[in-house]
Amino acid sequence: MTARIIDGKTYAEGLRARIAGHVARLQREHGITPGLAVVIVGEDPASKVYVSNKARQTAEVGMFSEKHELPADTSEAELLELIERLNKNDKVHGILVQLPLPGHIDPNKVINVISPDKDVDCFTPASVGKLTIGLPGPVSCTPLGCLMLLRDQLGSLSGLNAVIVGRSNLVGKPMAQLLLRENCTVTIAHSRTRDLPDVVRRADIVVAAVGRPRMIKGDWIKPGATVIDVGINRVPAPEKGEGKTRLVGDVDFDAAAQVAGAITPVPGGVGPMTIACLLANTITTASLINGLTPPKDLTP
Ligand code: NDP
Repeated sequence: MTARIIDGKTYAEGLRARIAGHVARLQREHGITPGLAVVIVGEDPASKVYVSNKARQTAEVGMFSEKHELPADTSEAELLELIERLNKNDKVHGILVQLPLPGHIDPNKVINVISPDKDVDCFTPASVGKLTIGLPGPVSCTPLGCLMLLRDQLGSLSGLNAVIVGRSNLVGKPMAQLLLRENCTVTIAHSRTRDLPDVVRRADIVVAAVGRPRMIKGDWIKPGATVIDVGINRVPAPEKGEGKTRLVGDVDFDAAAQVAGAITPVPGGVGPMTIACLLANTITTASLINGLTPPKDLTP
């Protein structure tokens, strides 16, 4: 069997087009322009690229976009003060603080100051609580993207065995909540799981969020399973020249694609969905802040 390749790049383009439609409708019917503020502290090159991409894509769908680039020696108090200002700014419906922050700033303190109403990353305890009990609100961006791809591939997920490898607050745990809401039977595996290959072999859906290049082997995959590879790992690529690198996922793609029914590639699978889902969350928060029901196609 050769798996269908799940094209996250094309799906994310379509999603952004739908989001642009929702932005236009909110402006036309309610006079609301959804707005996202992104905040970065310091000079980390990868973070700067992420933040620029987020700000650019926000503007491209017609939203109000605000970028705050602060020097690495910004004090914690100064950052908290900026977030308080953004909490009160009516043009801003979503606040994203790019992590990691410099060592002298406590990320938990910063996250806790973000208004849960504007928490488009779904990091605050209030947002995590809402996700857990199924109240409307923003949903962790990468898991939301994975869910959209899974629904697009499989339709109903009800009754399927889902195995998530990784239990981070960012990916593994919110992914489990979302799949539970879809009536999957969910197993969360982690570094202490016994006989991981055997656990993965039982899965109709595998979500790999580990951060270890090609750790999940082809013979761990149940024939016909749907494999979502969240991992992004940079590995040496001598075939491209000395010192060159390339990105691979947590799944041994070539082997798994021989067995799976469908699989996301890295790059081009889950990655492009994450920013698109950040924009989707901004529509959700802008709707809820204004007493409107968020669009169904952007929420779980
Ligand atoms: P974390 O490092 O926070 O979590 C990794 C998880 O993997 C932990 O729960 C850990 O278990 C588990 N793990 C580590 N080693 C093993 C092992 N040998 N066997 C089983 N489980 C193991 O990572 P994140 O969740 O933040 O990210 C995971 C991957 O996804 C990374 O490659 C990251 O770059 C990528 N990512 C991609 C995004 C995208 O947009 N595509 C967005 C976010 C992340 P334990 O808890 O026991 O330590």
